[in-house]
Amino acid sequence: MNSAKSQGTALVTGASSGIGAIYAERLAARGFDLLLVARDKDRLESAATRLREAHGVQVEVLKADLTQKDDVLKLEQRLRSDSSISLLVNNAGVAANGLLANADMEQLEQLIQLNITAVTRLASAAAASFAKAGRGTIINIASVVALFPERFNATYSASKAYVLSLTQSLHTELDGTGVQVQAVLPGVTRTEIWARSGTDASGIPAEMIMEADEMVDAALAGLDQGELITIPSLPEAGEWQAFVAARHVMVPNLSRSSAAQRYKS
Ligand code: NAP
Repeated sequence: MNSAKSQGTALVTGASSGIGAIYAERLAARGFDLLLVARDKDRLESAATRLREAHGVQVEVLKADLTQKDDVLKLEQRLRSDSSISLLVNNAGVAANGLLANADMEQLEQLIQLNITAVTRLASAAAASFAKAGRGTIINIASVVALFPERFNATYSASKAYVLSLTQSLHTELDGTGVQVQAVLPGVTRTEIWARSGTDASGIPAEMIMEADEMVDAALAGLDQGELITIPSLPEAGEWQAFVAARHVMVPNLSRSSAAQRYKS
């Protein structure tokens, strides 16, 4: 039974571990019923049992491999048809390591399916459904590597730059619909993602690593403050605003009928 304080249902992808598991817990504590998605059904089921008991919310578990088109289509269809879903956390993602020139292209294609294609399809379905309802929230988990791609795996960084850009455009598209959009840019966060991608995280200084619960709490505080972009560890929000402002300074000159003088002989 829905708890009296139910906020609707939050669909969390990648809810079986790490950041997604913490979102599931925090959203249940906020009174959301949950639809938890990942491949590892056993882990989802045990999280569901715990969350039902702790928070008295409804929790449904859905096993899906979001690199597989059929699974993504089913979830998309659910988002479009289930009007109880009011929040999407587009969180499931994988990292990669190594040089692009030496990459296993099959593995990178799977990364792109999960980090880009599935995120896009689910965001589209949520945007349509939530705009129709005149309410709802879309949270896309990007990464700070969107801002410094020179320091990390090329394809992973590019996938996260895509998520940032998608979120910025989507925010403009949804203006006036009542739908809130947020991109979260975590820095290094202690989860399984490092081991799963075969990345040795042992050399990362402790002062650069945040616990997943602190990261998610900060991201939700940013959401509550109405932020479009939340960078949980950035002490000065003004630095991000200056970065955005610098981009806007260029905008009037980014497309002109003639080339810049320095390119003319
Ligand atoms: P994690 O602990 O490895 O969690 C990844 C989640 O995604 C798991 O629940 C996993 O569940 C799910 N997943 C992986 N492949 C999937 C697939 N094919 N289909 C469906 N679900 C799949 O890593 P995390 O750090 O929490 O990652 C969550 C998000 O945060 C990712 O988008 C990641 O890029 C982003 N992020 C992480 C960090 C960091 O330092 N940890 C920093 C910036 C951004 P199953 O294995 O059960 O499917």
